[in-house]
Amino acid sequence: MYFLELAEIFEKMEQTTSRLELTNHLVYILKKTTSVIIDKIVYLIQGKLGPDYQSKQLGVADKVVIKSLALASGYSVNEVQIKYNEIGDIGDVAYEILKSKLQTTLFYEKLTIERLYNTLLRISELTGSGSIELKLKYINSLLNNSTNLESKFILKLILGNLRLGIADFTVLDAIAIAFTGDKKNRKILERAYNVSSDLGKIARILFDGSIDEVKSIPISIFVPVRPMLAERASDAEEALKKMNGKMCYAEYKIDGERIQIHKHNNRIELYTRNLENVTNNFSDLVHEIEKINSKDLIAEGEIVSVDLITGRFLPFQSLMHRRRKYNIEDAIKDYPVLLNLFDILYYDNQDKTNLPFSTRRKILEEVLSFKHDKIKLINQKTVAKVEEIDKFMTKAIENGCEGLMIKNPNSTYRAGAREWAWIKLKKEYSNKLLDTIDLVIVGAIFGKGRRVGKYGALLLASYEPDEDTFYTICKVGTGFTDEILDEISKKLKNHIIENKNPRVISGEIKMDVWFEPKIVIETFSPEITLSPIYTTSIDKIKKGYGLALRFPKFTGKIREDKNAEDSTTIKEIENIYKKQLKSI
Ligand code: ATP
Repeated sequence: MYFLELAEIFEKMEQTTSRLELTNHLVYILKKTTSVIIDKIVYLIQGKLGPDYQSKQLGVADKVVIKSLALASGYSVNEVQIKYNEIGDIGDVAYEILKSKLQTTLFYEKLTIERLYNTLLRISELTGSGSIELKLKYINSLLNNSTNLESKFILKLILGNLRLGIADFTVLDAIAIAFTGDKKNRKILERAYNVSSDLGKIARILFDGSIDEVKSIPISIFVPVRPMLAERASDAEEALKKMNGKMCYAEYKIDGERIQIHKHNNRIELYTRNLENVTNNFSDLVHEIEKINSKDLIAEGEIVSVDLITGRFLPFQSLMHRRRKYNIEDAIKDYPVLLNLFDILYYDNQDKTNLPFSTRRKILEEVLSFKHDKIKLINQKTVAKVEEIDKFMTKAIENGCEGLMIKNPNSTYRAGAREWAWIKLKKEYSNKLLDTIDLVIVGAIFGKGRRVGKYGALLLASYEPDEDTFYTICKVGTGFTDEILDEISKKLKNHIIENKNPRVISGEIKMDVWFEPKIVIETFSPEITLSPIYTTSIDKIKKGYGLALRFPKFTGKIREDKNAEDSTTIKEIENIYKKQLKSI
């Protein structure tokens, strides 16, 4: 299959503002695909070379791309740079300046998708001296064999700027329709996605095999599993009711970073909640994990910064020092951490996710049967009464925790699911205030007065998982220091788009700038109200009205560990709204 066909679809997708049309384009291209390239095509559609956890980054600098475009077009580097400054996207520059190129190319060999993918993969593997020249050579070989439309998308892929407005769940829908004939099967594919996080692999299995094979994709070491999540309860009474009044576990809820450990003999990898590999940032923990007496292991825990003198857990912000890219060794010395293990998913060559939580906890206790300096079991207690939970909550708060997690002892590990088997209970709930809400930034308006030249307010949205869309919920302009506003603006710069993203449902609202839904921030609001402006739960509670955060405030926390699709869902917002009505 030629890349030109895919580039033509990309072009159509870029111009679409309807999610349905986006899915239809994807279905069309998937149906035309041959078995050899099915996974590659899926990765390219996502603007990637493989699943996220493998982090195959192209790592090509703007400078190299500009130089190769100059070589391919006959323009000088300076001329290309000027055009780039003018247009702002190197792919669009290529489209413009390579318009008349084909007539002058002597050796034109139509570019296949396989060749494009393999060349990009080779580029991603180049490191060290001489790699820049080789990258240049490979990029040029691609540009010399492509039309201006293909060049546009090749360069967007190389710089990671392919913005088709789709996310994993839209691709899952398209795979379900193209290969099973029914969008409803997305639910089945979702389970496979939750244990493999690899859409290319799922598409390949479906293409060559059957949906039953997809159903039985096993969890495997070094393939991070999407984490099981928790529902929220207002107080101990509600949490106990959800456990049918029966005995359950209460655990410290620590405000750190969730980490999944994968171990096979001496190889150890650590993944964050959004499947980023952070092994290098926590080499101190890796040395400790090496001492764990087990050949194979997948376990989960919360990493937290600790004050070595008092032993108290420190707030989440201290942990962020450990996520820096440079001077990692210094950060390891200055910011000691503790890993609190709370679950085990794989052990002794066996998947343990289908065992009840009580059994998994016993296994975890055996695995950690001797004392480790930097690893411990999460503090847990068996509870069956409201008073017991309240007492344990007080102790947790005294020790610097956010609150408690209440867990059903009979529950299996449900990858990627947010259900009542796990319930979070935070100290804020007990004051009848709202919990913090994580929302994705989808637009902005420019500031006035002190904020001239900066963003004055950000348009935020909640997530609707069934449709894979985002609904607006408020504009937030308070809670930002100058530094953090600059940091957020810098992050947003890479995600500015010309028109609203098709997955964002925003009604009539006008913005100065629109963004790809990527950056998630934590907000706080004392109340949820009905609003004729925002679209979250539009028409569901009252015709013509949606739900909105009243007096929203940014808490200062950018949720680096969350993807847009991990934002608070519409269902959660509705639940909070309903609870709030009851408490009046
Ligand atoms: P929040 O913003 O409230 O932390 P979240 O949206 O990040 O919530 P939830 O599933 O709602 O994620 O809450 C569970 C999170 O709490 C886990 O992802 C994990 O990072 C953290 N956590 C802390 N202690 C525990 C524990 N004992 N068991 C499970 N998760 C824990």
